[in-house]
Amino acid sequence: MLQRDSPMADPQARLDELITRLKERGHRLTPQRMAVLKILAASEEHPSVEQIYERVKAEFPMTSLATIYKTVTLLKEMGEVLELGFSDDSNRYDGIRPYPHPHLICIKCKKIVDPKVAIWSELRQEVARSTSYQIVSHRLDFFGICPQCQEKE
Ligand SMILES: [Zn+2]
Ligand SMILES: [Zn+2]
Repeated sequence: MLQRDSPMADPQARLDELITRLKERGHRLTPQRMAVLKILAASEEHPSVEQIYERVKAEFPMTSLATIYKTVTLLKEMGEVLELGFSDDSNRYDGIRPYPHPHLICIKCKKIVDPKVAIWSELRQEVARSTSYQIVSHRLDFFGICPQCQEKE
């Protein structure tokens, strides 16, 4: 599992990486698919498939939601995109950091950010140590009200 941390995300480097992975597996890079990759490589805000669709459609009006779904699902299966499932909202995606990491979710505007958590890997080791489980993945969500939404109150 990928465990590299990239605090200074470089959208171009991440985009190149995604392109390389798809090419390695013999997948075609249509202009629509490239647009999806670009959005995922540069979006810190964890977009939903619908949000990606709206942005791709602005550039390629003939794009269908199914096309976006297919590309996101493919990347998810390849381990190049992290899916955050929510029972009451649509799923959100992180294409910058596709490995498990903590998330902070605004309960008002549903914005999702990656907080810097220094003890995160220690936490994982602690859980493994105290339970004798072999940890394969984890999910750590914090919920709050973002500064912008606090201002509106
Ligand atoms: Zn907010
Ligand atoms: Zn994230």
